[in-house]
Amino acid sequence: MEKLAIFGGCPVREKPIFYGRQCIEQDDIDAVVETLKNDLITCGPRVEELEKKLCEVTGAKYAVVVANGTAALHLAALAAGFGPGDEVIVSAITFAASANCVLYCGARPVFADIRPDTYNIDPEAVRKLITPRTKGIVAVDFTGQAVEHDALHEICRKHNLTFIEDAAHAIGTKYRGQPIGSIADMTCFSFHPVKTVTGGEGGAITTNDEVLYRRLMRVRTHGITRNQEEMVHPDDAKWYNEQVELGYNYRMTDFQAALLLSQLNKLPKFSARRKAIVKKYDEAFSQMPEIVVQRELPESDTTRHLYILRLNPERLNCSRREFFDALYAENTCPQVHYLPVYWHSYYEKLGYEKGLCPTAEKYYEEAMSIPLYYGLTDEDVEDVIMAVKKVVQFYRR
Ligand SMILES: *Cc1c(COP(=O)(O)O)cnc(C)c1O
Repeated sequence: MEKLAIFGGCPVREKPIFYGRQCIEQDDIDAVVETLKNDLITCGPRVEELEKKLCEVTGAKYAVVVANGTAALHLAALAAGFGPGDEVIVSAITFAASANCVLYCGARPVFADIRPDTYNIDPEAVRKLITPRTKGIVAVDFTGQAVEHDALHEICRKHNLTFIEDAAHAIGTKYRGQPIGSIADMTCFSFHPVKTVTGGEGGAITTNDEVLYRRLMRVRTHGITRNQEEMVHPDDAKWYNEQVELGYNYRMTDFQAALLLSQLNKLPKFSARRKAIVKKYDEAFSQMPEIVVQRELPESDTTRHLYILRLNPERLNCSRREFFDALYAENTCPQVHYLPVYWHSYYEKLGYEKGLCPTAEKYYEEAMSIPLYYGLTDEDVEDVIMAVKKVVQFYRR
């Protein structure tokens, strides 16, 4: 710990730079306030407008807006029909919600290792995990980079699997020129404040499949329908509705939808700024042998949600913890994304053991995310680069 005494300099900066932050401007605020004066303030006209807008942005036929990204994953897993006895293959390095949605349905997540260069799910690892019980894949576009759709789709077609894409990081990203949201069977988005666009909370599922769409709309609101064709006891009385399956209340309010509509109009500028910052970081760090930068495949035109530094233990004489704390002392607040999901004690209790995905585990020991968000100024970016360089110089072997 004594070594760290040299850190904590950063005299010009009083407030630390966090790894992510929302950008809310006056027109976003006005849109919310305006909506609060309407008759319907939940699941009303703004939510419908947002669904149309998401179809435009993603190129999908249908969009279902929900309360948050976890609800989106839950409903997608439900609509996919995952249930007890089924296995669903999930990325090992992702937020726990990608796997929890499988557990919510009573199915078993099976964790697939990542590629050592892109950190996305490795299609080769997926192939090896297929059994007669495999029903689907939940793959995350980690940091915003698109998963390898061609390879994963081939696997899904061959084994008749449902492909759910966790695109919580990836709004604005394209794969071979096609926007994320229109490629997988179902794509789930999150609009948490740290993500590229926000509704405070919020989520959505996009799909091109009408059957999945109808089911998603129904389970979003308790499994209740007003469509007589879906009823067991059809009745045309104006008040009549029928619960035909077990659903939830995962509705979004209209004021969140208004905020999101306003934010989605800014996606091009958010995306451009994130790309510019990533370029600066790549230029600064890709020359440094002490740091490994994430590889981006040419198929993915990425709007990056996270920027990950990976420490090269052969060139640095420190633990990830020491590096992290030193950056923190420099007022650059990193974060780690993520613990391999099955290392969480809850998953351990379910019987998952360490050693399942060696590449993911090694990645976790070496990775940290540095600040990346629209509101970072050029000066902030320079400060982050300076802080990283300072810590690298100190710990260089
Ligand atoms: C944020 C996130 C989620 C969950 O989204 P919420 O809106 O917070 O529920 C799921 N998966 C990944 C990869 C995420 O980053």
